[in-house]
Amino acid sequence: MTGSQGLPGALGDAVGGSDPATEYDDGSARILDVADGSNAASGNHTGDTHDVAEDAKTPRTQEARRSALREAPTVLVSACLLGEACRYDGRSQRSERVLAALEGKAVVPVCPEVGSGLPIPRPPVDLCGGSGVDVWAGQARALEREARVDRTEDFKRGATLALEAARNFGASVALLKEKSPSCGSQRIYESGTLRPGEGITTALLRSEGLTVVSDEDL
Ligand code: SF4
Repeated sequence: MTGSQGLPGALGDAVGGSDPATEYDDGSARILDVADGSNAASGNHTGDTHDVAEDAKTPRTQEARRSALREAPTVLVSACLLGEACRYDGRSQRSERVLAALEGKAVVPVCPEVGSGLPIPRPPVDLCGGSGVDVWAGQARALEREARVDRTEDFKRGATLALEAARNFGASVALLKEKSPSCGSQRIYESGTLRPGEGITTALLRSEGLTVVSDEDL
């Protein structure tokens, strides 16, 4: 993977660095290094094309999503929820509830946006014309809120990298940050307004069979 700008340490490596060493945090969740794919489960996804369908496989009820998370040995997690300061505004979104829910599990931290090569901080981005599914269908775009710079391809590349990380480590469940244009799974900002929908990474992960759990499900 490439594009780990601004992400120091184990989590930085995990979202796109080159240090092959597997890292562990000092808590009870085991942090895996995404850069070390050599000893992970095989994954040969090219990321060139994706047919993201509407029929999301994520369980519809909150309890079913919680149950999937409880049973998962390995979980793909939004790095900002783990305390990584990778948000657009340079802050983290560390969640003690998330950390508690990951106790005893192997954790694969990813930040799709930073993994794609975008910097920290960076301008906020809204989806315009639809949600993540619509972006993959070519019917919506990811635009910077103020300058309207089109970041669609960056966000799609970051989503593809997150999917590769999930496959490489055999993660079938993802625990992602709500309201993000990448990681949101129930609500996102569309043209400046919070609406029901999922982000670009979530749409791709769901289309590939992963269960996506929101931090707000916990
Ligand atoms: S919500 Fe997702 S894309 Fe945004 S900072 Fe967190 S991990 Fe990165």
